[in-house]
Amino acid sequence: MKNLKRTKQYKECRARFAEVSRRLADLYPGAECALEWRTDASDPADDGWRLLIMGRLSAQCTDARVNIVCRELFAAYPTAQAVADAPIEDLERLVHSCGFFRAKAQNIKDCCRIMVEEYDGRVPADREVLLTFPGVGRKIANLLLGDIYHVPGIVADTHLICIGGRLGAYPTTMKDPHKVERILDMYVEPEEQSDFCHRAVQFGRDFCTSRAPKCEACPLRDICPYAKNEKM
Ligand code: SF4
Repeated sequence: MKNLKRTKQYKECRARFAEVSRRLADLYPGAECALEWRTDASDPADDGWRLLIMGRLSAQCTDARVNIVCRELFAAYPTAQAVADAPIEDLERLVHSCGFFRAKAQNIKDCCRIMVEEYDGRVPADREVLLTFPGVGRKIANLLLGDIYHVPGIVADTHLICIGGRLGAYPTTMKDPHKVERILDMYVEPEEQSDFCHRAVQFGRDFCTSRAPKCEACPLRDICPYAKNEKM
């Protein structure tokens, strides 16, 4: 790692990502999470259980679908305790359209039970603990820690994985979220990581789509190796 950080390629890539971060901040100043998990509670930690559920449901599913499903889910079961106590058949019915409904229903019920019994109904602010929760991987854990507690972390979703490769942080063929997380962690400043990841998701939808990136209209075109046909 020390040797890598001395290389010209590393320094160039770091400078490029600093510029990408600045431009994405101009483009998307709000850096909103696409999942509509917040209520009007003043403390985000009061709503954290909702983000955990939505993060789990979003695997292999769109954020838009999760938002629709969770409106009904949270109306029927408005607390972590209520989800923990809910009949599993009803949870399965409610989350059916998100796919993998049996596993997801069981996971969200079990996670809520753990939060109620051991963490006062809240998401624990500890990555290693979160990774022991059923159905919670690094992507969800980092999302929770960043959005609720402002802990730095890269949320390696499919948009970000694709964009990071095209912008030259790693080969465009790389799809392993753990490797992507480790690499982007070197290029994006810790205090910017949470916002950067939310902005990258929006940018991926608006410009850098996986199948047909709109390079002609893209505000990163002049600094993007992919657009310059330097595919890595
Ligand atoms: S120029 Fe094209 S490939 Fe590069 S970031 Fe923009 S849309 Fe993606």
